[in-house]
Order: sequence, then C-alpha cells, then structure tokens
Amino acid sequence: MENCIFCKIVNGDIPSAKVYEDENVYAFLDISQVTKGHTLVIPKAHKENIFEITADMAGPIFEAVKKVADAIQSAYSPKGLNLLNNNGETAGQTVFHYHIHLIPRYSTEDGFHPVFKENNGNQDLPAIAASIKAHL
Ligand code: AMP
Ligand code: ZN
Repeated sequence: MENCIFCKIVNGDIPSAKVYEDENVYAFLDISQVTKGHTLVIPKAHKENIFEITADMAGPIFEAVKKVADAIQSAYSPKGLNLLNNNGETAGQTVFHYHIHLIPRYSTEDGFHPVFKENNGNQDLPAIAASIKAHL
C-alpha cells in the first residue's frame, strides 16, 4: 500500500535489518530496540490490524513468530520475552500495517511493563467469558 512504511520495507524501498523472510511473512528489527533483539513480524500483504488479518494468514504469521522467538532465545538467552500487538490508535498502534512485537526481556526493569494501571475488580468473570464464548 502506498505511503505505508512497512510495505516499503517489504518491497525493499526503505532499508531494514531483516531477521527472517518467507513467502508470506517478513521480520525485521524494530528501529527503537526497546531491548536488544526487539523484532517485528509482519505479513507481506498490507493488513491494518488483527481484524483485517484473514484466518489463513494467522498460521504463517505465528509460525514465523515462533521461529524468530526461538532464534532470539538462542541468540541472546533472554530471561523472558513479550509478544505484543497493538491494534488501533487507542491501543497504542502507530504504524498501521499489522505487526507483532517480540521483545526479549533481560530483567524485570527493562522493556516495558505490561501492567494495566486500572483495577477493574469485582467483575462477573464467568458472565464475561460466556459473552465472549457466545460469539465464537
Ligand atoms: P506500534 O506502536 O505497535 O504501531 O509499533 C510501531 C513500531 O514500529 C515502533 O516500535 C517503531 O519503533 C517501529 N518502527 C517505525 N518505523 C520503523 C522502521 N523504519 N524500521 C523499523 N521499525 C520501525
Ligand atoms: Zn503496509
């Protein structure tokens, strides 16, 4: 898609530190390197977010996530690794071509803290689960 920075990366129009590539998927280092090895896995096809990803794309994308995660583990032996995917501006998405962050963690103090600040306790969890299940 025109004017999409990640499409330009896939097409080689702008440079990237490529980590992995196959027919459907491309992986490269995040320019911001929240931690050493911070990688983005993206579909080659332009899809904005999880809702635009088709079911048949999900398998290849996650297979690549697994491969790259193992590679990061082998490379750097982090003590942990976060997978993160922001969908929509409200959720913190800034580049609107679907991507999954792989963020190796070397300490509890590095990277980001995936902690939700608000405590919405006292919810009826079984009801929430049932509502979601009803739509599966
Ligand atoms: P998100 O906020 O989840 O949409 O993440 C977008 C990510 O893309 C950020 O972590 C940026 O550092 C990263 N990013 C933006 N431009 C580039 C680029 N040219 N090469 C590599 N990573 C990029
Ligand atoms: Zn794109």
